[in-house]
Amino acid sequence: MPETSLDVPSDVPAQPIDIGGIARLQFDAAAELLGLSDSMQDQLRMPFREVAVHVPVLMGDGSVRSFMGYRVQHNGARGPTKGGIRYHPDVDREEVQGLAALMTWKTALLDLPYGGAKGGIPVDPGELQRFELERLTRKFTERTALALGPYRDIPAPDMGTDAQVMAWLLDEYSGKRGYSPAVVTGKPVSLGGSLGRDEATGRGVLITMQEAARDYSLPWEGARASIQGFGNVGGHLATLLHEQGVRVVAVTDAWGGVLNEDGLDVPALHEHADRSGSVAEFPEAEPLNDYGFWRVPCDYLVPAALGSVITKEDNVADLDCRMVVEAANAPTTPIADKILEERGIPVVPDILANAGGAVVSYFEWTQNLQQLRWEIEAVREALKKKMVAAYRNVAETARERTISLRTAAYLIAVERVAETEELRGH
Ligand code: NAD
Repeated sequence: MPETSLDVPSDVPAQPIDIGGIARLQFDAAAELLGLSDSMQDQLRMPFREVAVHVPVLMGDGSVRSFMGYRVQHNGARGPTKGGIRYHPDVDREEVQGLAALMTWKTALLDLPYGGAKGGIPVDPGELQRFELERLTRKFTERTALALGPYRDIPAPDMGTDAQVMAWLLDEYSGKRGYSPAVVTGKPVSLGGSLGRDEATGRGVLITMQEAARDYSLPWEGARASIQGFGNVGGHLATLLHEQGVRVVAVTDAWGGVLNEDGLDVPALHEHADRSGSVAEFPEAEPLNDYGFWRVPCDYLVPAALGSVITKEDNVADLDCRMVVEAANAPTTPIADKILEERGIPVVPDILANAGGAVVSYFEWTQNLQQLRWEIEAVREALKKKMVAAYRNVAETARERTISLRTAAYLIAVERVAETEELRGH
């Protein structure tokens, strides 16, 4: 294949595809550009280890409910594997495989001494009582513990799991093996979690946005940003942008959306969302539906909720933005990505833009191993250094080789992992 600025082979399916499919296509494009041998491509495609466990849970009504739990360690050439645990009804083995591979590329791109992993249980945590959730987590931990460990595989929170779930995991693991705070990140601060972990992904998105804005000569103070999702990532990002004087004009969540051309009052929007459970019906704004959201004129469009939301079928031709910043994982389908490139709209890719959480997880792990506690300023400064270095590396590679930021990010990540595989031998 000739060196090209397109991210994916031309035969990509037009319809939205799952996260595993998106990650595979992006890997394939980078592997082609790097000229990796077929055997190395196979080595990097196949998961290193997969653990599937039966997780029986004694429920409140006396019945026993059976779940399946998965932990996939995609590649550990660069260090212990790292990645979240997701509790969501749509979780399946293929999705966990795809997310684990994304973590391999993300940790390599940020030059963290880790490989990639992911775990998950197909369950709606909202349907379980707290003690049922605790039993589920403890049983899953007990049955996957052989594959976990501070120097083997280190979980973290993901969709449907939080610091409390990580605290149960820590307790279950430590009960059998001695106190092991470094076995998990995203813990409560009182149990060895890091200051600044909560805001880390949103802050990382902000840092890459700022760098990209400078590179592409886009306005900053007074510029307009639209954010899909007002959870951990979107909520923190909105606050940080507001503090920077960027106008957050549109925000949506699962229940609705709001628009204010002059910029939303983000602190007031947080208070409203905390009180009512949604940004919808915020008084100082107009209501906005999903269709309208994607068509709001803005400088920065930030999907910070779901995968496969920018698609050929639904919206890509109508986006009225100057840059897309992927805070969510895999929000742009490959064909939509191509169209954005043809339209000259740069995309800051997910494995770069949303890597801040992984970076501060790494800081948490190093603090645990050394029994140290960093001040918040130290965390923020170190995060900034890591994110800026990664962005600059990606931007320079993209410029030198006339490829997109996404292809450049994959190129760097895949090359690093391939080099380590080669060095470690067989
Ligand atoms: P979250 O659960 O805290 O928030 C998700 C937000 O998206 C909520 O506001 C929810 O209402 C909203 N949402 C759900 N469905 C929606 C819809 N149809 N339309 C509009 N909004 C909708 O999740 P989060 O931690 O903020 O993660 C958001 C995204 O960022 C996910 O793709 C996640 O994989 C990715 N991500 C998160 C982190 C992290 O550290 N939290 C790190 C890397 C990537």
